[in-house]
Amino acid sequence: MISFIKSAKSLNDFPDTSREVVFVGRSNVGKSSLLNALYKKDLAYVGKTPGKTRLINFFDIDGKYTAVDVPGYGFANRNMDEQITFGNMMDAYFTDRKQIKLVVCIFDGKVGQTKDDDDMIDYLKNNKLPFIVVFNKIDKLNQSEMSKLKKEKYKFLISAKEKKGIEELKDYIEAKLI
Ligand code: GDP
Repeated sequence: MISFIKSAKSLNDFPDTSREVVFVGRSNVGKSSLLNALYKKDLAYVGKTPGKTRLINFFDIDGKYTAVDVPGYGFANRNMDEQITFGNMMDAYFTDRKQIKLVVCIFDGKVGQTKDDDDMIDYLKNNKLPFIVVFNKIDKLNQSEMSKLKKEKYKFLISAKEKKGIEELKDYIEAKLI
């Protein structure tokens, strides 16, 4: 069973869990769609509820691990105060959680890797967090764009919309939990 645990934004609010898989990406990259495809359940209703879009949402996945939905980054309309609040929340989360087994970074296959995405990867590397990069929306790519992405071997190519690559990603995530 997949169930919502809670939404939280600060250290003393984060739930007690043993293993976490975290999903990050620019807003609009298809994170909610991917979560729904992976877990066959509409988790987005929580993530998109007004007031919760800027919180970290925790879900229990079959009692096996916790999926963590972190708010999308790269909001053009966020002011400086909001950016700082967001940065502090991310720092509080990523530096505290020793139980993070994997960070799934979702990039837009059509847009490609952006400066914000580069910053995210640098951040994860600096904090020595295990991560994979997943390119979503591959249904939008033409053949040459596809073959270009395929050359970068360690990346997953998926389409949340057409449910491509979802089972492979699921297997990869579960293998990381052992
Ligand atoms: P979020 O903001 O990252 O949670 O993104 P959403 O899941 O809400 O998706 C943002 C937009 O991208 C929506 O219009 C989705 O229908 C669309 N989208 C998500 N995944 C895919 C995909 O694999 N292919 C295509 N073509 N569109 C997608």
